[in-house]
Amino acid sequence: MGTIARCGIERSEPVGRRGRAFDTLLPIVSPEGIPDEQFVQDVRRILESRQLTNGTFVRELERAAASYLGVPYCVAVSSCTLGLVLALAALDLRGEVILPSFTFHATAHAVAWNGLTPVFADCDPRTFCIDPNSVRQRITRKTAAILAVHLFGNPASVLELEDIARSAGVPIVYDGAHAFGGKAGERQLGTFGTAEIFSFSPTKLVVAGEGGLIATRYRTIAKRLRAARNYGDAGDGDPEARGLNARMSEFHAALALGGLGGIEGRIERRNRIRCRYESRLGQIPGIRFQQICAANRSTCKDFSLIVEEQQFGRNRDWLLGVLRQENIDVRRYFWPPVHRQKLYRGMGDTRPLPVTDYLSDRVVNLPIYSSLPDADVDLVCEAVFRAADVAGAKATGAGL
Ligand SMILES: *Cc1c(COP(=O)(O)O)cnc(C)c1O
Repeated sequence: MGTIARCGIERSEPVGRRGRAFDTLLPIVSPEGIPDEQFVQDVRRILESRQLTNGTFVRELERAAASYLGVPYCVAVSSCTLGLVLALAALDLRGEVILPSFTFHATAHAVAWNGLTPVFADCDPRTFCIDPNSVRQRITRKTAAILAVHLFGNPASVLELEDIARSAGVPIVYDGAHAFGGKAGERQLGTFGTAEIFSFSPTKLVVAGEGGLIATRYRTIAKRLRAARNYGDAGDGDPEARGLNARMSEFHAALALGGLGGIEGRIERRNRIRCRYESRLGQIPGIRFQQICAANRSTCKDFSLIVEEQQFGRNRDWLLGVLRQENIDVRRYFWPPVHRQKLYRGMGDTRPLPVTDYLSDRVVNLPIYSSLPDADVDLVCEAVFRAADVAGAKATGAGL
């Protein structure tokens, strides 16, 4: 097959003039694992039972998730954000929490809501996850905990991070919002650290509408969290700690429970889409990808490109504009990085985060979901190839 020149666009010709890759906008995400008929029947059952919350669907979801993850305790909550807030609160911390800046800001909000100081660490240019060396450099006497993120579903360096946490004598908690079903080696994410918190909001791998799940190996933590999500009340009307209403409703649990089935197939499909993007787009100079260690499994919650202006010929924002003209919904996850957002600017350790800035300035996220057909993946790739041609990127290998 030809090179990108085969697309046959004159360098000066606007990309839009050849028509768009898609007649209607190709969305970047599409909620998946949503059972239709079963869910409607479940809703009827819930209505008939008159038990709309604190019922059998939440218990069954917790049981099924614990069994799938291979972790003794799962506590369903109304969102991952509240799960993170309550998990940190359950540890009764004071001082600083080390977390990545290249993440969704909810990770940092959970720290801030607990009155703790976020200390941002840099990330690894290959995995995009928090860099253990940067964490090591930020450990002080004030460090209360480490909060790592499995970014886009790619496992963080769990073993190294847990060594660091152990030496420092602090707990480690994971924001696993993207990562339900991911694996570090043979071990499921959800079995690491003091707790791992997953999101079941519509852009994630399991969808509850809104919802989250805390997985932990520790009975006392699970017990505290069950009380905490219920106004702090363990059942005797006399709370030991300040709680919230962070319960998941039966309806949300029924939706998530339906989505648990089929998760393996969806993760496989997402990984095949990732490989398809990579094998095609990897031929374009100045385009590179997040690396997933061969022993691990990413959920591929997102798929991102890094655009190197020098070789590609144009910068990330230019590519973003061109792809939007092609009717492809593309995003910058995550820009601005959290340490540059107005809420967190200048907070904690203010040493520079060069890798975070570098990735955040170059990242483009492309559509990925298990229902995305190969033909659409190919159309997205062709649009990127046309853009590369206009940008003047020089192809090195065979094109599409
Ligand atoms: C989506 C997301 C959250 C928040 O999850 P909710 O369930 O919407 O509260 C937290 N952290 C990261 C990294 C996320 O992407």
